[in-house]
Amino acid sequence: GDDLRLARIAEAIRVIPNFPKPGIMFQDITTLLLDPKAFKDTIDMFVERYKDMNISVVAGIEARGFIFGPPIALAIGAKFVPMRKPKKLPGEVISEEYSLEYGTDRIEMHVGAVREGERAIIIDDLVATGGTLCAAIRLLERVGVNVVECACVIELPELKGRERLGDRPLFVLVKAF
Ligand code: AMP
Repeated sequence: GDDLRLARIAEAIRVIPNFPKPGIMFQDITTLLLDPKAFKDTIDMFVERYKDMNISVVAGIEARGFIFGPPIALAIGAKFVPMRKPKKLPGEVISEEYSLEYGTDRIEMHVGAVREGERAIIIDDLVATGGTLCAAIRLLERVGVNVVECACVIELPELKGRERLGDRPLFVLVKAF
């Protein structure tokens, strides 16, 4: 059942303390990718949720949203739209800034990748403060896309990203503390 699949997914994620800096418990999904059953269960659980929700856009956040997004997009018959770090996309872009602990960062999306009125999900490996997902939501909503839900493999509930997303639904498979 679902609980067994979720337990296997949780077990396949490796936690590396103090990476990339002291005090951070890094949730490493590369070990999940090494376990074909747990990786397939991860994709399947998202596909089961989104297959009948009329989603035409899976927007994946660089870099680990590029691992989980495309197989989900293919399975539900949606397009995959990469949301990239600055200066990576070659065409005309729109961008949104978001704040980090020190300074700011930006994500960019190609103009014309999506159309007004499309229904999207946004996917990333993990939600911490929710700043990245909020920027992705703003980017899509600026061009009239309906963000149906954000989806992540892992949530760090202590960082309250879910609250930052306000009334935007957030679906996660695993909570880590
Ligand atoms: P945030 O914008 O604060 O929600 O941060 C989410 C982004 O940072 C995601 O793209 C994650 O991949 C990455 N991230 C933040 N904290 C962690 C962590 N503890 N382990 C792995 N990735 C993280």
